[in-house]
Amino acid sequence: MSRIVLKFGGTSVGSVERINHVAKIVKSEVDLGNQIVVVLSAMAGETDRLINLTKELSSSFQDSEYDVVISSGEQVSAGALSGLLNSSGIKAQSRLGWQIPIVTSGDHKSARIEAIHSKELINLLELNEVIVIPGFQGINSEGRITTLGRGGSDTSAVAIAAAIDADFCDIYTDVDGVYTSDPNKVPTAKRLDKISYEEMLEMASLGAKVLQTRSVETAMNNDVVLRVLSSFSDIGEDKKGTLVCPEDSIADKKIVTGVAASTNDSKLTLTGIKDKPGVAAEILSVLADDGINVDMIVQNISDDRKTTDLTYTVPNDESTRAKELMEGLSSSLSYKELIVDNNIAKISIVGVGMRSNAGVASQMFRVLSQNNINIDVISTSEIKISVLINKGLTEKALNTLHDHFELGNTTN
Ligand code: ADP
Ligand code: ASP
Ligand code: MG
Repeated sequence: MSRIVLKFGGTSVGSVERINHVAKIVKSEVDLGNQIVVVLSAMAGETDRLINLTKELSSSFQDSEYDVVISSGEQVSAGALSGLLNSSGIKAQSRLGWQIPIVTSGDHKSARIEAIHSKELINLLELNEVIVIPGFQGINSEGRITTLGRGGSDTSAVAIAAAIDADFCDIYTDVDGVYTSDPNKVPTAKRLDKISYEEMLEMASLGAKVLQTRSVETAMNNDVVLRVLSSFSDIGEDKKGTLVCPEDSIADKKIVTGVAASTNDSKLTLTGIKDKPGVAAEILSVLADDGINVDMIVQNISDDRKTTDLTYTVPNDESTRAKELMEGLSSSLSYKELIVDNNIAKISIVGVGMRSNAGVASQMFRVLSQNNINIDVISTSEIKISVLINKGLTEKALNTLHDHFELGNTTN
């Protein structure tokens, strides 16, 4: 007997047919004698529809009520599956985030899970009830509904797995595992049998949305055994999937494990700023005070060494606010021009083997230049290298790098 959290994403519960298939997967696990918690996303497209509804109602829709609206899609999925399981003779009950409760930080739209009251969940599991929990939602200390950021049901599932000390957290999705790159963009991408937490964390934060970044962080910090599986395979079929695990359980450490792309950033450039101490600090502190996360930063000195250009990236949906803040600095910084570019993509290569192999960056830059892909900004860390390029070249860059590092030949 194992205790397992099964999480199903939006496409996996996207229709009556898909929900029926999920019920069959749950039944097959119950039949094996396992204790099951199911965590569900909203039906595909539903969260987008709810977000658009709030936008249509008001351009300044209140954050706390926004969370009440956009968390509702998950409630529908949970009630729907639980009802279906009961009509098929499987004892189940749904528990919403606030009923458990799943306690989060106060911030709406991207709250962090702080505590999960697991005692009653465990009692129900011991009574062989399947518990169906809507992902993505929690309750803050003021008793208000919160949501965990896009893709947050992954994090709900992993946090619940940690809280109930589950043997596995299985993330069922529309692909059969984590691939060397997004299989919908790179036709030669290969499924990885295993990937380390560290690499998965980088891949996720650099655009591989198969797992939400915080879910990987939570799994790594709590030793949750995380598997990524397809909800589209037949019942009884051998589940291949990908195991996300500690680095030392992977014998063959590749230099490059995967290539990821993100088109969620905008680039802001301020040209001709007077080059005096404190300029970068002034710009970045104005952004930080407004809660805007800055990712990549480059500063260049001009020929005359009197002025400087500063480029940085922020999430797309914060670029308008960042632009307003920069306009507010125009007199103190007396810059020449403010350029906002939404037409960018960040392409990254990730691999733990980079720690001990020099020359990977130069290979990456050479391959891109040989393919006429211009690099705007570069940033590196121990196990990843990222570059900013023109958004229109995203798939070309992904495929070029994937081929160059021979990731299509991966077997592990
Ligand atoms: P769900 O609705 O199940 O949460 P998501 O759409 O959030 O599913 O994530 C699955 C998608 O992630 C896949 O359809 C795929 O296009 C994308 N993806 C991006 N990078 C990768 C990768 N390296 N491996 C697998 N899938 C990836
Ligand atoms: N439904 C939410 C979203 O679309 C959460 C999730 O699916 O993980 O972002
Ligand atoms: Mg997802």
